[in-house]
Amino acid sequence: MSAPEQRRLIFQHIDEPGYTNDIACYLRNGGYEVLKKSIGRKPEDLIAEVKKSGVRGRGGAGFPCGVKWGLVDRKSGKPIYLIVNADESEPGTFKDRYIMHQDPHQLIEGIMISCFANNVKQAYIYIRGEFPHGARILETAIAEAREQNFVGPDVLGSGYSCEIYVHRGAGAYICGEETGLIESLEGKRAYPRIKPPYFPAVLGLYQCPTIVNNVETLCHVKHIVDMGGDAYTKIGTPNNTGTRIFCVSGHVQRPGYYEFETGKITMGQLLNEVCGGPLPGRKFKAVIPGGSSAKILKFGERFKGKTRAGEEYDWGVEDVPMDFDSLGMIGTMGGSGGVIVMDDSVNMVEALANINAFYAHESCGQCTPCREGSLWMKKITSRMVHGEARVEDGALLKSVADQIPGRTICAFGEACSWPTQSFLAKFGDEFTQYPAAPKSLRPNGATELI
Ligand code: NAD
Ligand code: SF4
Repeated sequence: MSAPEQRRLIFQHIDEPGYTNDIACYLRNGGYEVLKKSIGRKPEDLIAEVKKSGVRGRGGAGFPCGVKWGLVDRKSGKPIYLIVNADESEPGTFKDRYIMHQDPHQLIEGIMISCFANNVKQAYIYIRGEFPHGARILETAIAEAREQNFVGPDVLGSGYSCEIYVHRGAGAYICGEETGLIESLEGKRAYPRIKPPYFPAVLGLYQCPTIVNNVETLCHVKHIVDMGGDAYTKIGTPNNTGTRIFCVSGHVQRPGYYEFETGKITMGQLLNEVCGGPLPGRKFKAVIPGGSSAKILKFGERFKGKTRAGEEYDWGVEDVPMDFDSLGMIGTMGGSGGVIVMDDSVNMVEALANINAFYAHESCGQCTPCREGSLWMKKITSRMVHGEARVEDGALLKSVADQIPGRTICAFGEACSWPTQSFLAKFGDEFTQYPAAPKSLRPNGATELI
């Protein structure tokens, strides 16, 4: 079966010739019309549309956005805040940056509709420190929107007021974890908070109810309110509604951004047809389907089981539909949509050493299993690529990785151990060849990396 056509909702205009990121261009293309209509509606109706749509968070966890909004404590008497998580740092993920650069007003319209729906008077865009250009674009776009009365006091003469502030991070991956982000926004070190019992929906920024949504998720809100929640559920597949943006990087002929109905395209269609297949003379070896924290898949492995609907499946990696549930069923995750492709030229020990170096650098250090474990995993894989591995290193690496998940404050503990666990489970033979092996005998003639 050949790949479906792209279904562009978020990227509808982004690559059109002459489409620019200024407000005049956005307005010419129907911009802010949905906000105008929303302001005349009851806020609870807008929330109901988002709930009906079933849209799941596009930051990575896939938590239903309408459910999250439904959990907000509206009786506390405290202000409700909205935070846009634009701290896009997951290796392999680059969709939010593109949205902010190319179509910032789509995000601002989504923010304003969401704020109006949830009676939010102050919203913060927490943008990754390494995106200075994106921050400038957003500042300009907010100023433009304010001039036209889409943002600020008395929005469109409705009596409703809402400000949007851009806050730049300073280069720490952990600031993308929502409670680390909140601490950082409060001016503190970004140590994630323990959750449960209290999620930001109840106690978030300044101990007030807070909604934290990803950039892409908020753009979806605009389209949901425009077409209605029911119509939105017709896009994609049940429980995986709407479209999904895939950021494909690595060893394919046409890496890039692609937007498809969720669950309507398989991994094989995406990589072979849409992305043009492997590089000349190469074969696919492995793929990480949802950002570096997702468990790696090995081409050639098979997955058998039953779907939620009770249908039996027997899939190779190429057959897996690209949605939250299917990727979850085979033991990995759709995560942030970052698809990292590796061909048979890749040395898996080097690849893991690279990932481990990242996590060791980014651990906030608050909990011992994560702080020490991520460093140990980095040290072990680093000495493997430097030809200094010990005989026991393969087993030691596994033992360290197995002792982190479930014992930490935030999901970073899982995120840093899953790559090591899955690389060892699927490519263990490449790791056992390392101890004491002279450089010339190492797989694929490994070179030093770090
Ligand atoms: P999570 O499952 O703990 O939470 C998901 C969201 O649902 C949060 O906003 C949380 O507050 C909310 N939530 C969950 N249960 C709730 C409840 N009972 N009441 C109220 N709210 C509730 O996941 P997480 O730790 O926020 O995110 C992990 C994911 O982040 C990973 O899967 C990874 O893919 C992704 N990630 C993305 C990036 C990126 O750059 N996009 C970077 C790092 C990680
Ligand atoms: Fe920090 Fe890691 Fe603990 Fe998360 S799991 S709080 S990143 S030390």
